[in-house]
Amino acid sequence: MSQNILSLCYLIASVCFIMALKGLSSPKSARAGNFYGMAGMTLAIVATAVSSGVVNYPLIILGIAIGGTIGAITAKRIQMTALPQLVAAFHSLVGLAAVFVAVAAFSHPEAFGIGRAHHIHTGSLIEMYLGVVIGAITFTGSVVAFTKLQGLVSGKPLVFPMQHLLNAFLGIVLVLLGVLFVTTESAFLFFLIVLLSLVLGLLLILPIGGADMPVVVSMLNSYSGWAAAGIGFTLNNNLLIITGALVGSSGAILSYIMCKGMNRSIINVILGGFGTDPAVSAGPASSEQRPVKSGSAEDAAFIMSNAKSVIIVPGYGMAVAQAQHALREMADILKHKNIQVRYAIHPVAGRMPGHMNVLLAEANVSYDDVLELEDINRDFSNTDVAFVIGANDVTNPLAKTDPTSPIYGMPILDVERAKTVLFVKRSMAAGYSGVDNALFYRDNTMMLFGDAKKVCEEIVKAMD
Ligand code: NDP
Repeated sequence: MSQNILSLCYLIASVCFIMALKGLSSPKSARAGNFYGMAGMTLAIVATAVSSGVVNYPLIILGIAIGGTIGAITAKRIQMTALPQLVAAFHSLVGLAAVFVAVAAFSHPEAFGIGRAHHIHTGSLIEMYLGVVIGAITFTGSVVAFTKLQGLVSGKPLVFPMQHLLNAFLGIVLVLLGVLFVTTESAFLFFLIVLLSLVLGLLLILPIGGADMPVVVSMLNSYSGWAAAGIGFTLNNNLLIITGALVGSSGAILSYIMCKGMNRSIINVILGGFGTDPAVSAGPASSEQRPVKSGSAEDAAFIMSNAKSVIIVPGYGMAVAQAQHALREMADILKHKNIQVRYAIHPVAGRMPGHMNVLLAEANVSYDDVLELEDINRDFSNTDVAFVIGANDVTNPLAKTDPTSPIYGMPILDVERAKTVLFVKRSMAAGYSGVDNALFYRDNTMMLFGDAKKVCEEIVKAMD
């Protein structure tokens, strides 16, 4: 394939990726966005595969077969609630790929057209250095994020004295080593940089607590994009540079939006929880024996049937129970009774951005009934019933009042302002951040203990 045709294919693929991002910005156009993304990626792979630079087809086919099989089986099996850790695991592979490409380019510069051994072009050495640093940080950072999200290690911030000083010191050492490496082209320095970057990746993510993990995943997404762009420079591949930059910048924008949504400082997250107060605790555990009011599905059916307006607040538990279809059925019955029903979505409800929107769309809930926090929060005060299904942290008022709480500062859905709050969950257990929820003990709260799907089905039966 001639260079011109290859460039044209890459240009079309880039446009497809931009249209994919545009499509993914709204649930209505997300399906089309995914289609553009898949089309662009197919074109990019085919064009690269038939381009003149490819020398070893059997190895490529073997790689695609192994990677593709693992990817397809994982995607088929993965529970939607485990997507964040899957995404973190995939990011780690992008980081590792960047490190491997840099190592290969450093060992065989002639094969990459970037000079000869001990005479690599200065520009290429700089690109290699950046790719390897970002790639290695992305790799170990993503592995830590994966183990935290998977519950293999505690989600609590892991802090020790002088941690930030150590991070700053490592950062400065890495910059100095970079300058030395570019001037001397020393293999020892190259591998020392890889090692220190791997350590820095660990140190940056370990101090970040569970409540900030959504931002970390999106930040690592951004890092993996920049690592891919780094590989693009080393391989002299324009499409990889463009795609990496798109992933890098869109991930950074998403992280910024999420930080705003959670009232967190983006600098704090990038610098590995800088400013995290070691005194911050997970708050009182839910073992406290305070009286709570609990009711049955019949009670809930009665209360909602006599309401004028109901706001449904879905959370992680709805995803676990796959209750969205039963929930929509319940909402349909309420609507038939001329009761206003809307859904309030918190930016970090569930375990990934847009988690609740995807589930509600799957159950064919109208997009017009689904409102974001800032559009609906004021309406709780003139609403009869807040029906909180499998959500916990995103309603916890401690986020407003307790500076020692790990969720302090996160805007919450003000469900307690509704006349009655119905909480559907299985027990008194705390949410993701491990903080007890004071709302459970309020006078206007009624707990509906049980699996979210079962409770909805029972309410539907009771209303029928
Ligand atoms: P939470 O994790 O705070 O609470 C979910 C609640 O659902 C639990 O208290 C649990 O209580 C209940 N639950 C679990 N399974 C079921 C079930 N089968 N039926 C009924 N209830 C069930 O969820 P929220 O959505 O309120 O908050 C999201 C949290 O996740 C935030 O802390 C956020 O920071 C974090 N996070 C968000 C990410 C994102 O991108 N959205 C990514 C990573 C973390 P019980 O066990 O008693 O049933």
